[in-house]
Amino acid sequence: MSAFLKDGLARNYLAGAWVEGDGGARIAVEDPGNGQHVGDCALAGEETLAKALEAARASFERGDLTAMKPARRGQLMQRIAAEIRGIADEGAELLCRESGKSLSAAHDEFEEAAQYFEYYGGMADKIEGKSIPLGPDYADYTVYEPYGVSAQIVPWNFPVSIAARSLAPAMAAGNSVIIKSPELDPMALAMLGVALERAEVPAGAVSILNGIGAELGARMVESPAVDQIVFTGSVPTGQAILRAAANPVTPALMELGGKSAAVAFEDANLDTLMSSLQSGIFYNAGQVCSAMSRVLVHRSIYAEAVERAAALANGLSVGHGLENPGLTPVISARQLDGVETLTATARQSGARAASGGARLEREGYFMAPTILADVDPAARVAQEEIFGPVTCFTPFDTEAEAIAMANGTEFGLVAGVFTRDLARAHRVAHRLRAGQVFVNEWFAGGISTPFGGVGKSGFGREKGLEALYNYVRTKNIAISLKG
Ligand code: NAD
Repeated sequence: MSAFLKDGLARNYLAGAWVEGDGGARIAVEDPGNGQHVGDCALAGEETLAKALEAARASFERGDLTAMKPARRGQLMQRIAAEIRGIADEGAELLCRESGKSLSAAHDEFEEAAQYFEYYGGMADKIEGKSIPLGPDYADYTVYEPYGVSAQIVPWNFPVSIAARSLAPAMAAGNSVIIKSPELDPMALAMLGVALERAEVPAGAVSILNGIGAELGARMVESPAVDQIVFTGSVPTGQAILRAAANPVTPALMELGGKSAAVAFEDANLDTLMSSLQSGIFYNAGQVCSAMSRVLVHRSIYAEAVERAAALANGLSVGHGLENPGLTPVISARQLDGVETLTATARQSGARAASGGARLEREGYFMAPTILADVDPAARVAQEEIFGPVTCFTPFDTEAEAIAMANGTEFGLVAGVFTRDLARAHRVAHRLRAGQVFVNEWFAGGISTPFGGVGKSGFGREKGLEALYNYVRTKNIAISLKG
């Protein structure tokens, strides 16, 4: 496996070479399933960042990606997809160990990453401008140009697939990219560099650096040498990045958190709701930006829904990710403390734990799968992102009340409607304040459906054809033909 790992140390992929970073700094990576040491990652500092920025700029100025015929760029991306599949087995095991997620979920991440390169690779030669009629004396057209150097900051919950989600469209458009991996699970993402290396991506067009957010990340986003920032992560970090980007006036794409509600009406199919709940809040231990972290249920079916949800939660198998259980650990001891503490506040506002409510006493960082019932929609637990396997059930009586509750947080990432009434599904979907609405299946859609937030969930869209246009800017060329 290339020079990615040297003496157990995962390195930085800097402009086509594997380097250790600055001053021997490294970070230890822990297995959240058992607390064991997975490995170490070499940390990049300011010196390595400066080299990556310089290499990215030089690659862009040389036209490594843009002077290439767009169809050829597409072929390069198809090759990356194939190489990602080639490292998927090894990469998935590493990702499973460092993130705590199940092996099958880790494998899905590599598969999804490959699919992003196929999908956006297919678009590399279809980024077409417009011709604008100005009468016989003018010819006018628009072209879509890449920004230049795109700095992309990735969170720990889906490091490989989220990195690919932004890298693939950026590359299809011809940008050079520098990715900063998350400090809690940087290794599988660093390994993505192996696929890029094997696909013979031009040196400098992509670098993957490991570093601390408040250090390397902060230096990246404040740099005037960056032409675009793509951030996926929490609201406070997004706000800090927007402040840093204000100085150099760097455009930034923000994919932030959520507190997404499913609304289940009296005619909802409860089997469907339960299978959506299982993936919606227990997949990846609920550490999903678009998790189903609130469930609003019509009072006529509320008691049955809570009872079934608690039975589902209590029936989940629990174990290390390598065993592919129904519930895996959360990422760290700190994350577990935060999830447990916020969950405990629910009781103060009159809620009850129909299942779970506290950590599981076993090795690793496991939160019990938790169904909180009778949650006051104004309570902290119903307003703040928990980012763990904990969801909040609240009953409602009318459609208007349900919509007001669903829309009653500062977030607006996704939402769901569960009903057999198509007219109601349409009506409610249009009134929900969210970037994406799932009807009768949480997480319906995929890499081809646009995704992104409203309010504090952020702005800009990832996924789908539309996302590509986040990675280009429009130039208009107006030509006088008068002489
Ligand atoms: P985080 O904000 O703590 O960290 C995200 C990334 O930002 C990490 O790589 C971190 O090192 C870096 N970072 C931290 N401080 C920085 C700074 N000052 N400047 C630049 N970079 C900095 O988020 P997290 O805990 O890794 O991820 C969980 C959050 O991400 C949740 O809120 C979740 O909802 C959100 N998320 C959103 C989406 C989406 O698509 N909308 C997807 C996944 C996760």
